[in-house]
Amino acid sequence: MAGRAIRRTRFAPSPTGLLHLGHAYAALVAAEQADPGAFLLRIEDIDRERCRPDYEAAIHEDLHWLGLDWTQPALRQSDRMPAYQDALRRLEPLCYPCRCRRGDIRTALSAPQEGALPAGPDGLIYPGTCRHRSMTDLGADDVIRLDARRAFDAIGVAQLEFRDEIILPGQPHRISRDEFLDGIGDVILSRRGMGTSYHLAVVVDDSAQGISLVTRGKDLFDSTWIHVILQKLLQLPTPLYHHHRLIRDDAGKRLAKRDDARALRHYRQDGATPADIRQMLGFRPSDP
Ligand code: GLU
Repeated sequence: MAGRAIRRTRFAPSPTGLLHLGHAYAALVAAEQADPGAFLLRIEDIDRERCRPDYEAAIHEDLHWLGLDWTQPALRQSDRMPAYQDALRRLEPLCYPCRCRRGDIRTALSAPQEGALPAGPDGLIYPGTCRHRSMTDLGADDVIRLDARRAFDAIGVAQLEFRDEIILPGQPHRISRDEFLDGIGDVILSRRGMGTSYHLAVVVDDSAQGISLVTRGKDLFDSTWIHVILQKLLQLPTPLYHHHRLIRDDAGKRLAKRDDARALRHYRQDGATPADIRQMLGFRPSDP
């Protein structure tokens, strides 16, 4: 093992509901893939309106019940605003304020477009209506967007890449500037009333926590491009990725927080043991 980089992973749930089987799977993958003592917990609670302290307490309890433990106190994103603000200040020359609401974006996209509107990992691809605006004109009701064109110019590369150890292991995934502009566009770095966004917070925190292996569901694969460009702009290392399968319900739909019936606590109340949960999810009884 000499010279091999330490595999430090994290499980990063949002306390907006009870953990369900899909979360248990993500947590068990992260813990299993970590080197001993290198599995961390992060509470992603930037959305103050949707997050609740009782859900946060339930996350700790459910994970401990599953047999998981983490080596450092959990990092709470709500305590990290100064770090996000600092990153945002560094990115500011590449950003612009945007006042468009979803309806405005839809209307702007519908005009030249017939059929389905272009969408990326964050929904509709922003048509650039506010791109001419300057950050000195930032209003209280604005979001802050990254100008992807200026961002590519700043890093001076024609494409981005990252590696995944599950999907096409052994060869880098690549996206060109044009593919990024067409398929992702100008994403939001600071949401209304939040001071940051999921993408910015994840990138800043993965670096602060020294995460070398990001394990997460395949549904976030396209979002990873946003994280890679932010890592480049902030001069942070790009970790190795491990996009795992999603746990689906009987109809093949991805589990969501509202699927309360799949909450770990309900299985537990019905008499399931942690070993039963591990087995249902395809883990051997003794992992991790
Ligand atoms: N908090 C995100 C979620 O609940 C996952 C974070 C990540 O892996 O980037 O889906």
